[in-house]
Amino acid sequence: MITHNLGYPRIGSQRELKRASEQFWAGKISVEELQVTALKIRQQNWQTQQEAGIDLIPSNDFSFYDHVLDMSLMLGVIPTRYKELEQKGFADELTTYFAMARGYQQNEISISAMEMTKWFDTNYHYIVPEFTKNQTFSRFSNKAILDFEEAKALGIITKPVLVGPVTFLLLGKEKENGFERIDLLENLLPVYIDILKDLESKGAVWVQLDEPSLTSDLSENEQIAFQQAYQTIRESLTSLKIMVATYFECTGENIHVATSLPIDALHLDLVRCPSQLGDILELPHFVQSEKLLSLGIIDGRNIWKNDFSKSLAFIKRASEILSEDRLLIAPSCSLLHSPCDLDLEKNEDVLTPEIKKWMAFAKQKLNEVATLKALSKGEYSLFHSLQYTENQEAIASRTKSELIHKPHVKKRVNAITKEDSQRKNPFEVRQALQLEALKLPIFPTTTIGSFPQTDEVRTLRAKLKKGVLSEAEYENLIEKEIEKSIHWQEEIGLDVLVHGEFERNDMVEYFGEQLSGYVFTQNGWVQSYGSRCVKPPIIYGDVERPTPMTVKWSSFAQSKTNKLMKGMLTGPITILQWSFVRDDQPRRTTAFQIALAIRDEVLDLEKAGIKVIQIDEPAIREGLPLRRADWENYLEWAVEAFRLSASKVQDITQIHTHMCYSEFNDIIRHIAAMDADVITIETSRSQMELLDAFVEFEYPNEIGPGVYDIHSPRVPESDEMLQLLEKALVHIPARNLWVNPDCGLKTRKWAETEAALKNMIIATQKLRESV
Ligand code: GLN
Ligand code: ZN
Repeated sequence: MITHNLGYPRIGSQRELKRASEQFWAGKISVEELQVTALKIRQQNWQTQQEAGIDLIPSNDFSFYDHVLDMSLMLGVIPTRYKELEQKGFADELTTYFAMARGYQQNEISISAMEMTKWFDTNYHYIVPEFTKNQTFSRFSNKAILDFEEAKALGIITKPVLVGPVTFLLLGKEKENGFERIDLLENLLPVYIDILKDLESKGAVWVQLDEPSLTSDLSENEQIAFQQAYQTIRESLTSLKIMVATYFECTGENIHVATSLPIDALHLDLVRCPSQLGDILELPHFVQSEKLLSLGIIDGRNIWKNDFSKSLAFIKRASEILSEDRLLIAPSCSLLHSPCDLDLEKNEDVLTPEIKKWMAFAKQKLNEVATLKALSKGEYSLFHSLQYTENQEAIASRTKSELIHKPHVKKRVNAITKEDSQRKNPFEVRQALQLEALKLPIFPTTTIGSFPQTDEVRTLRAKLKKGVLSEAEYENLIEKEIEKSIHWQEEIGLDVLVHGEFERNDMVEYFGEQLSGYVFTQNGWVQSYGSRCVKPPIIYGDVERPTPMTVKWSSFAQSKTNKLMKGMLTGPITILQWSFVRDDQPRRTTAFQIALAIRDEVLDLEKAGIKVIQIDEPAIREGLPLRRADWENYLEWAVEAFRLSASKVQDITQIHTHMCYSEFNDIIRHIAAMDADVITIETSRSQMELLDAFVEFEYPNEIGPGVYDIHSPRVPESDEMLQLLEKALVHIPARNLWVNPDCGLKTRKWAETEAALKNMIIATQKLRESV
């Protein structure tokens, strides 16, 4: 039995790579200094894995920005606009690389960055490869080979990791019409083979080709491409062993493709899809082959301790059918998605020992892999049997702990009925009542919630944390900010005001800190893209809301104005999506618990006289399962969770929601089913094209398509916004149209915000005069 790992976090346990990269981009350190940091991280990672007892340690899993971009460079998939940099003598390999990742503004050249999108259903973002009709491939960067040799020099024969050829093509985008990217396979393969041969000649024994596309819906053409790709690769190599790694979902019907590939080992994610172990063990052509099976049994996507008794049962089951020397054990996927090291969490006030002992981060997960190997081989040294006992005690305490299990919360979720997610009356009735009660003008104006989080505001929070400011002093200063923003909003003539969200560090963390069932870490960082890392809060137990979370701020704000003040909440799905979640109950149950907590807050806001309440759900779309067949089920409970949080209010209380991602088409029916009185959405970057989905569907409720892009410092002219509004008005009934920016303004400067919103009001006035 072999232990292996699919990939290790590359940001460094203290986010060393983030710091070094950002300093390098700012011109504060040299490229050599950046390389030194990178080398240290790679060496440290290899060493950590070696010490943990991992037999096959990955290389080329390190990346300066993104491993898909690394692959593009290794295969020479570099769009012409970046190639020119090199031709003009401005760029070496790393400059070209960073130009593709982040754009390039120097030497009177301005090139924007390449598109970035989510890596399957994770919160990691990759740089999307661009393909043209006459795309050629050729070796450019030598990274995989250099990394292999670097480890070899340290005496470690690693298993280089590459994104597999089919997944690489599928992850990209056709930049021209008239071809399908999968048809490029034939031209692409020789370059892959060249890289693999090179690795082989340098002494590599194993290589891991990541093909997570095998867990997604594939066309017949794509399934055939897999067969062709690996046939060609096999025929070209002499001894290099190939492992194909799948993860994040079941291989499902693709299991026949996956098990028929002429490869040496297949990795399956048994955390996301435990049932595929039984499936594969029943396939005679796999069982009777000599192929190895890699059991992905340690959760690479979450922070919970593995249950050894369950994992040992998996291993036992596999080894009853396949001989032990055909088994590998590993985490379910690359540990890129786990925080680095639980040992760094030393502050017991932040993470109490009782909860900490239920967890494992990347480094601890490696120990779990190694311990499982020892245990399954019956190597019961005192050390290992102690580890087993400790593990089982932790698992048992988690199933029973009163910190986690609150009967009254569970009871409340179990008592949910259909009526709980039903407003008293349908939208038309509510709209008429709200029109009368809220007395809003035609084309009401509003913003999405946050105003600039200036350095001053952030400093206030830092001072509060350090104890330099008392709670009362802090609140006082925040109130001043709120008042200022209210006066200013009144002055420029906005209709529905916001308090500005100055008191919030982050739209999920802020609520997590006030809900029970949540804990936080000090160093639990995970790479999101490039040098950007996130530190997701952790839901460990039943969630409830001990006391009101936002009522104080919203009522204060409302008391300072006669205009309507909008209450601001984050919705249950977004809170769920941006946290590490429990693995001991379905996501749906956790979502419903959060929904009830948010509902409590909504009702308290209403009681406090807040008549307009916004529940943000920007993350509904990213929760979509990888397989289409699973969408309906997810969307059903996701929509129900939102409705649960929003439905108990009076008809005259106006519920808003906000979403900011492109592509509403395929989920528009569900967005409509959320039945928010008003939805504000991102549309301005697409010149209102994203609104088409709503128009086609004849979306019945009120809608505020963003009239300007808040992601850019640019201040649009009022006529520009007027044109967008007129465009929207062609299809949207005037009584349903709101005027607002694309998203919250927290990342903008005040000067830009003021100028842009003033122009937005001018545009609205012109529109009102014209109808
Ligand atoms: N209310 C939040 C804000 O204005 C919404 C942020 C978001 O959509 N991501 O910042
Ligand atoms: Zn938004």
